[in-house]
Amino acid sequence: MTLRTAEQYKEGLRDNRKVYILGEQVTDVTRDPYIKVGVETAACEFLMSHDPEYKNIAVMKDPETGEEVSSYFTVPDYPEFAAERYELIKASCYYSGFVLPFVKDVGADIINALTVVAALSGEKKYAERINEYRWYCARNDLAMAGVVTDVKGDRSKSPHKQKVSDYYLKVVDETEDEIVVSGAKAHITAAPYVDEFLVIPSRNMSEKDADYAVAFAIPASSPGITQICRPSFPYENKYDFPTPQPNRGHVESLVIFDEVRVPKNRVFMLREWEFAQNLAYTFAFFHRFTAVSYKIPVLEFMTGLGILVAEANGIHKASHVREQIINMIRYTETTKALAKAALHEPENILGSGYYIPNRLITNMAKLHFASNFHEYIRDIQDIAGGLLVTQPTYQDWENSTLRPYLERYLGGANGYSAAERLKLFSYLHHIGASDFAGWHEVCTLHAEGSLASQKMMLLIEAPIDFYKKKAKEIVGINV
Ligand SMILES: Cc1cc2nc3c(=O)[nH]c(=O)nc-3n(C[C@H](O)[C@H](O)[C@H](O)COP(=O)(O)OP(=O)(O)OC[C@H]3O[C@@H](n4cnc5c(N)ncnc54)[C@H](O)[C@@H]3O)c2cc1C
Repeated sequence: MTLRTAEQYKEGLRDNRKVYILGEQVTDVTRDPYIKVGVETAACEFLMSHDPEYKNIAVMKDPETGEEVSSYFTVPDYPEFAAERYELIKASCYYSGFVLPFVKDVGADIINALTVVAALSGEKKYAERINEYRWYCARNDLAMAGVVTDVKGDRSKSPHKQKVSDYYLKVVDETEDEIVVSGAKAHITAAPYVDEFLVIPSRNMSEKDADYAVAFAIPASSPGITQICRPSFPYENKYDFPTPQPNRGHVESLVIFDEVRVPKNRVFMLREWEFAQNLAYTFAFFHRFTAVSYKIPVLEFMTGLGILVAEANGIHKASHVREQIINMIRYTETTKALAKAALHEPENILGSGYYIPNRLITNMAKLHFASNFHEYIRDIQDIAGGLLVTQPTYQDWENSTLRPYLERYLGGANGYSAAERLKLFSYLHHIGASDFAGWHEVCTLHAEGSLASQKMMLLIEAPIDFYKKKAKEIVGINV
């Protein structure tokens, strides 16, 4: 099969997957009012690969067949990989308009991490399986979710010490051809609307945790898998002013594995507990770079909205507002500069022959983004004013009795009519004051790892011995 169209992608989701939302089973995820938001956002990935303007970045030639496949499946065995991935992620985000489609990138990050760890462990069968799987996904143009975060129970205890034995996903049975797994993975982005789940451990393991050291791939519609989703916002939103494209966003799910059978040719780690940490970390290196890359279009867009609302309110020249605009620019451009610095210093990861962006700088970029986002949003909220939460809806605008009042009283400065100003506020509400805005703030802190996980990486990756050596040389300490 060549590259799928958006319609073929959606058609592929109409299977017997078990997805629930608001307590009800969903018969067709492409039509559910809430999940449809995510389906349409993800579909942008498939639209982009057919768009002549984006094709040179979104599509590559399959090295074996010469057919066109998605560039997300590139093998990262050359230093320029990082720079190319950065451009691809940004293009996906610009194309969808604000939100990354999220159905190729995380999966590709996991395939890359599994490729690196198979090389490091010297397990030839895993190297062959993951290579075969990479091209299976590429040639069928599949959508993938990264299924990593376990529900974890008591965070202070390792997997085998938990009160519920499968708070971390584990192998519960094994035959010659299959393994059987049980457990639950949480907050999985795009899970209701992908073809494949890529499942890996979320942490380091000890020998006693060997049954939890398991990595595999499985179709999302496999028997024994149940997904429970939480709605964010509906696709048809009558409150908001219409914009050239609908609001984008994603749906996460709690994915339950109840004695799910996985064929062994899709198993990439089975009880090699010594490599679980390596796999979790390597995935985090690839994935945090994906994260900082897609944050950049998001920040450019949001900073643009912040500056526009300052102009629409006639305050953009006030000294305190200029200070806030400077802060927004500084935050946006520092995040961008760190991401670019990371890709300019790619690393041959642990001598495996595969390349990732610089690990220390990638973690600094993600930490910088996540640590400062709430203040950034506060500045946009401050500049915008209370209309952010009290503005009349589009339904009021459509009412012929009310519209003259709105036109008369809600106009703005610098040529902003009431219609333009309300349209701007409508989007600002979405990103700065809605349920989705709350989701975004939490997403910023936790998705791609909590603040502590990036800080830990700084301690691991920073040249601390070098810092100390220099200080000792200058002060004359011989300890
Ligand atoms: C919007 C969104 C999308 C996501 N998408 C995905 C996805 O697609 N795939 C996926 O696999 N995951 C996904 N995640 C999960 C994300 O990686 C986790 O939320 C993150 O790793 C934090 O885990 P947690 O939510 O269980 O919180 P916790 O780990 O419970 O963290 C809460 C706090 O506890 C602290 N803490 C945790 N453990 C310890 C400990 N042992 N000792 C001391 N302090 C500790 C943390 O530092 C943090 O401050 C997503 C999350 C969000 C919010």
